[in-house]
Amino acid sequence: MLIPIHEDMTREALCDCVSLRALEVMIAANCKQDSLRGQIGHDEYHFDNNAIDDGHRYISEQRGLVTSSLLSSEVFSAWSAFGRLTHTAQDFYAHTNYISMWLNQYKGTPPVPSEIDPVQKSLVESPSLHSGKIYIPMDVFYFVPFLRKLSLALLPRDSHGRMNLDSPKQGSNFAYARAAAVKRTQYEFEILEKILTPEMFSKFTER
Ligand SMILES: [Zn+2]
Repeated sequence: MLIPIHEDMTREALCDCVSLRALEVMIAANCKQDSLRGQIGHDEYHFDNNAIDDGHRYISEQRGLVTSSLLSSEVFSAWSAFGRLTHTAQDFYAHTNYISMWLNQYKGTPPVPSEIDPVQKSLVESPSLHSGKIYIPMDVFYFVPFLRKLSLALLPRDSHGRMNLDSPKQGSNFAYARAAAVKRTQYEFEILEKILTPEMFSKFTER
């Protein structure tokens, strides 16, 4: 998703859960994943190129890092790890076909975006789950405004360019991706509440 959207979603999901100082560190770490260094060779940060297992593994690793950082009283590292985790968790909905599979379950009028279940087990584990492949050079041309139309005409259906729900420009499914990403961010926070001791959790939240 676009960087300002990651920022907004993270703020919306966590502003009542952690201190402002913690939130700003988390947002900075989240958005940094979309820097050039975070884009090249890091499909797992964004669930790109069908890196489904690698994306899930990256989320688990960062969750582990939250715990180990708190154990050694490195609270800034814990916040950064959680920020990176939220980026990947949010991109899951923008870069995979989870949203279209979820909507396909409903005939006629689909539920409103706020009703989306971001962790429906049958979909998360579905063999049909896949993410947009990066086709070079067309998926690079996609980011050049005057070449976007041409690249979209030439890109296959399973490309990042054709599949992504990175911004409202991608149509009505974006609202579902955004709602799912905000809920998933809160869900990831709730996992921490369950696995951390009360002392570690209050250190993490500064509440
Ligand atoms: Zn990303």
